[in-house]
Amino acid sequence: MVQTEAEAAAAATAAAPAAAAVTFSMELNDEQRQMQKWVHDFAKDVIRPAAHEWDEREETPWPIIEEAAKVGIYSWEFVQNSFADPTGLMMPLVNEEIFWGDAGIGLSIFGSSLAVAGLIANGTMEQVVEWVPQCFGTPEKIQLGAFGVSEADAGSDVSSLKSRAVYNEAKDEWTLNGTKSWITNGGIADVHVLVVSVEPELGSRGHAAFVIPPGTKGISQGQKYLKHGIRASHTAEVVLDDCTVPGSCLLGGKEKLDARIARAREGKSSKSQAAMATFEATRPAVGAQAVGVARAAYEFALDYAKERVQFGRAIIENQAIAFKLADMKTSIDASRLLVWRAAWMAKTGQPFVAGEGSMSKLFAGETAVRVTDEAIQILGGMGYIRDNPVERWHRDAKIYTIFEGTSEIQRLVIARAISGIHIK
Ligand SMILES: Cc1cc2nc3c(=O)[nH]c(=O)nc-3n(C[C@H](O)[C@H](O)[C@H](O)COP(=O)(O)OP(=O)(O)OC[C@H]3O[C@@H](n4cnc5c(N)ncnc54)[C@H](O)[C@@H]3O)c2cc1C
Repeated sequence: MVQTEAEAAAAATAAAPAAAAVTFSMELNDEQRQMQKWVHDFAKDVIRPAAHEWDEREETPWPIIEEAAKVGIYSWEFVQNSFADPTGLMMPLVNEEIFWGDAGIGLSIFGSSLAVAGLIANGTMEQVVEWVPQCFGTPEKIQLGAFGVSEADAGSDVSSLKSRAVYNEAKDEWTLNGTKSWITNGGIADVHVLVVSVEPELGSRGHAAFVIPPGTKGISQGQKYLKHGIRASHTAEVVLDDCTVPGSCLLGGKEKLDARIARAREGKSSKSQAAMATFEATRPAVGAQAVGVARAAYEFALDYAKERVQFGRAIIENQAIAFKLADMKTSIDASRLLVWRAAWMAKTGQPFVAGEGSMSKLFAGETAVRVTDEAIQILGGMGYIRDNPVERWHRDAKIYTIFEGTSEIQRLVIARAISGIHIK
């Protein structure tokens, strides 16, 4: 698939007349195309063949993460190189291919990147340099990262966090208490980046992000959730019971926090809130993951529709089926364009004036749900049984309308941005 599209693009470029001054291009450069193919091959050869097993086992696929670490896909350098692409497209490209392979395994490989995003969005350069590599470890000793905001009473409403951090000035230590819910890699991660309240009366403006180093006492896994989809990805509670960390674990440092709290007390607005800064940065990549799941289901359904014969003809010869595939492909391509636009805007420092990051995640997430649903319909009974991956892709797709901000919350962000009104 990737090769075919790349070959078609190369042929089209060769056939096109030379333009005098082209200021806009949709063409991927050589480095992006090579990376896309390399990651696609790993997804095809290593991830996809393992997907069914790890979905059934509902466990973190350690051997696959190790394999990804050996070839260099699970590493800080890989994430750094992907982030470094000046167009911003490398992250969506690699996410789409990995999640085309399998979303549960994909999230096990990319779950640590959430912690990385939390560190980069909130930490100082020294903190980033110290902690980000520890979210990955080495191929010989794999480590994981986790990013935790959500709590039982604070999902969409992040301002309601109950977990608290209290500062002991004499010892320059913070003590954290509370329980985080639904945390990817929660409790099994080596490095946890957690957003908790330091000034509860200030709502989300009284939040701060902390890094909890490996081996810290007072942090443990609570219940592990059994899930509908992305079952190879570990999701669990994180329990903080007098979990004490040095002052240096406050991301961004005490001075910056004090200044932010003071501004909030005076009623002045703050440039960023710990959780939101992270989610804004990760939404296009999450949208790209949804595109990968949708594309997997579309390709499978297209092949099946050409082969499956009923009433003496391939089922794709019926408009009812062919038009479904046309709509599926159209919405996948539209999703990818929204994702690429948001990623490019974020990288080139353009503000999301109309909630473009949210648009990309909203549209791609809902497309994944619709496309995987239609794929089951095209396969009929064969789509509903576990012998075929379409059933798994359908279960996996649903998470993209829930985590990293539900579809309703994305619409809220967009509606507020375009109206300037605080829509409720
Ligand atoms: C598999 C999985 C992995 C996750 N991983 C992480 C993680 O790594 N880190 C982390 O911090 N969190 C994680 N989460 C939590 C996830 O971000 C939350 O589940 C999500 O934000 C929604 O919160 P909630 O589940 O409490 O739903 P609720 O907020 O209770 O929402 C329930 C429904 O009400 C709607 N709703 C709520 N408020 C409004 C409103 N104002 N207007 C309109 N509709 C509204 C929602 O859209 C939704 O449909 C994960 C969740 C899952 C399921």
